[in-house]
Formats: sequence, structure tokens, C-alpha cells
Amino acid sequence: MQRHLFFARFVSVMRFVYQSRSFTTIVVDAGHGGRDSGAYRRYGPPEKTVTLDVATRLSRKLRESQFNVVMTRTNDVFISLDTRVDIENSTPNSVFVSIHFNDSRRRGVKGFETYYRSPYAAELAQNIQNRLCSIKGAVNRGVHTADYRVVRKAIYPAVLVECGYLSNRSEGHEARNGDYRELLADRIAQAIVEQRHGPGVYRTSATTTVSNQESQPQPQAPPPPRRQRKPVLAPPGEGPGLAPPTLSGH
Ligand SMILES: [Zn+2]
Repeated sequence: MQRHLFFARFVSVMRFVYQSRSFTTIVVDAGHGGRDSGAYRRYGPPEKTVTLDVATRLSRKLRESQFNVVMTRTNDVFISLDTRVDIENSTPNSVFVSIHFNDSRRRGVKGFETYYRSPYAAELAQNIQNRLCSIKGAVNRGVHTADYRVVRKAIYPAVLVECGYLSNRSEGHEARNGDYRELLADRIAQAIVEQRHGPGVYRTSATTTVSNQESQPQPQAPPPPRRQRKPVLAPPGEGPGLAPPTLSGH
């Protein structure tokens, strides 16, 4: 009987590991939207705007890495939490990544947090958190379990990423900067690619994606951009990208 239990547990753990590393599709969820602006503080743009921007950049990077991507929204519309859950659960062989920015009455609070519920998603959550915290000056507020509906009701691995505090002067200003949002998307994409394909596969330069496919992997990420006062909007379709060298072209 004991042995039986041990075996059942072993199979279940292996299923967790397999499912969290065999996905082919990422459901990218831009938090809030439409009448739901999310966090709206003095230093940053409305949360719904920056979540959509980071989610769009992330989606492009993941498509460049040969993943299928489903976005829960691609413009400024309200999507209910139940609809988001329906989208994630009707997308087979997927992981779900929800993008948010944070808010606090205490202006000094800053940093990244990543949430998950199912043990299926723990490793992905930790990888995303680690990658975000490799950004220069990042504050690591940890990986936590949470009862957010989009992670609680998910049948596939699901994480929710808090990409910094709009209520904090420095992170709010950084959220206005397109280069910085590109960096956030880049680190999250890197974590997802590495979760699926292992370290050293991710490519950070989109403009050289095609010519780089034959060359050696470049595991070293570019240095984070210096903080800029003026917002610099990277035009869509440009900026860092990625392409696993082991995978065929677009
Ligand atoms: Zn939010």
C-alpha cells in the first residue's frame, strides 16, 4: 500500500514537471482594460496601458521564439476575469502569464513579485522572478502563492507577474519608458523560453534574429538601459527578439 502511494505521488510529480515544460502555447494576459484602469497613480501611466504594452511586446518575442501565442486582449477593452479564465482553460498545452503592475499607499514600496497557485506553475514563477530580478537595481519581493482567480481556476500552469509599483517614483517613471518596458518583456520572455527549452537558447536581439539563427547562442543579456527622463517609445516590431537556434525559421 505504502509503495502504491509512493508510486502515485511520483507519477503526479512527474506529470507536474512534464506539463510545466512541454507547453507549446502561451496565453498572454494584459491585466485590466477598458473601464477597469487598474492601478492609477501619480508617477505612472494607468496600469491597463502599460500591461497591454508589455503583454504585446512579450507576445511578439514569444512568437519570434516559435511559440503559439494567444492574447486575452489586444486593445483597450474590458475583459472579465471569468472570460480570461475561459480563454486560458480552452487553450490546450499552454501556460498562462498575466501581466500587472502594482500599487501601494506607501510610496517607498517597490519591486517585482510573481504569483502562482498550482505546483505546476512554481518553477515558471521562480524563473520569471529570477530573470526580472537580474535587471539592474531590481528589488526582489519574492514569489508567492495567491488566490487570484486567473491562477486559482487555471487548469494549466498559470502565473501572475507584478512588474513593479506605479505608486513608486522610480518604478512609475520607468514604466513610462518604452525601453524599460521592452526590457521587462525581454526578461519574462527569456524565462519562458528557458522553462521550455533550457538555458542558453534565448536570443535578445530581434533585428538580427534571422542572421543569428545559424550562429552560436548568446546567453548574455544586454545591459539594462539607463533610466531616461524622456519616454522613448520603441516602435512595434523593433527591439530585442529571440529565436532558439535549434528551431527552424519563421
Ligand atoms: Zn493589476
